[in-house]
Amino acid sequence: MKYLLALLSFVFVVPLKAWKFNDYFEDKTLRADYIFSGNNKEQSIALSQLSMSEGWHGRRVNLDKLLFDGYAQITMTDSASGKVIFAYSFSTLFQEWQHTEEATMVNKAFENTVLLPMPKHSAYLTLKLRNSHKKTVCEMHHKVSPHDILIRRCTSGPHSDKLKPFMKNGSTAECIDLVYVAEGYTDDEMPQFYADVETAVEAMMSHEPFGKYRKRFNIYTLAIPSQQTDVSQPLQGKWHDTPAMSHFSTFYSDRYLMTERLFALHDALQAVPYEHIIILANTPTYGGGGIYNMYMLTTARHSQFQPVVVHEFGHSFAGLADEYFYDDQYETYYPADTEPWEPNITTLVDFKSKWASMLPHKSNTKPGSPGLYEGGGYQSKGVWRHSFDCRMRTNTCSEFCPVCKAAIEKTIRYHTEELK
Ligand SMILES: [Zn+2]
Repeated sequence: MKYLLALLSFVFVVPLKAWKFNDYFEDKTLRADYIFSGNNKEQSIALSQLSMSEGWHGRRVNLDKLLFDGYAQITMTDSASGKVIFAYSFSTLFQEWQHTEEATMVNKAFENTVLLPMPKHSAYLTLKLRNSHKKTVCEMHHKVSPHDILIRRCTSGPHSDKLKPFMKNGSTAECIDLVYVAEGYTDDEMPQFYADVETAVEAMMSHEPFGKYRKRFNIYTLAIPSQQTDVSQPLQGKWHDTPAMSHFSTFYSDRYLMTERLFALHDALQAVPYEHIIILANTPTYGGGGIYNMYMLTTARHSQFQPVVVHEFGHSFAGLADEYFYDDQYETYYPADTEPWEPNITTLVDFKSKWASMLPHKSNTKPGSPGLYEGGGYQSKGVWRHSFDCRMRTNTCSEFCPVCKAAIEKTIRYHTEELK
């Protein structure tokens, strides 16, 4: 009897079996290429191509959990059980473009690539785009069968001879894998690229909490030479043939240096173990940009290179919003009735979900009190940030504010350890 009771209590105490990466996934990457298209009022999603390669370099923990919502979400559901087995969120250039004047006049299509772990059995993918009111404005479902003969099997990368490890701290399963991509460096200028990577990594690691978690990162470099030095500068009529096909004046905004050629970028990265992409542009012209879980790009030949590369990585890695603002704002980017998904700004609609618990006097959450400065997300009114200054506000500040630090720490832990 005693025996039986002991056995029973054992049965009741044991929780539902926690599932692991290997239960549902192969150690392979499923690359899904999508086209998002539309204008300022409409959007649609189309699948362009699925491909598969050896090795999965993304997270192996918190597989069905999202950390931050981004403006786009993809979930993978196991067909047999209906269970969500992978979730991923990101933001897109397409949705930024929808806010531009051009989007009121023309339909455009944008490339988007999502990397997923390859399911062992058939699964469904659901892709959703949400607007700034967090309303789903477009949704698409499709099936993925591991036996589908038209999933392109990729065996080797076109540039594997240009790949070098820069900092290796553990296996791809244990660490977050970053890749630095050379953009606009000629073959002769590659020593400069490696020196620039070193400068960028040291700048990042000199910012907490990256320094504290240095051992959780692996870093690779991909040095594809460019035929010409520098990147494309449309304002000067200069168009260069560079590996990532980036250019200034994205959306006619002078300093916005981005690439819209995502498929070619991911083709070039084939055979690189990567999760996050950092593109260094060999140009003295100031500029750059970063999109959450997509990529970041910055000018490496400018005096502000160090703060800017860390700032843009804040966008692409941790989903941080810009904390600067313009006094002569004429457009509202963050509507007053919606709490932004970005962790470091608030409209006070749901301040508890932000840094209310980090304030010294928890009841004192009135705007204007310490820990709540008005101005952020390009708006001087209606958006608040935690600190007067932060890496996400100016290039002169030496560090991230406490809220950004906490968000970065959470992101690093989300990638590398099971969160409760
Ligand atoms: Zn901050």
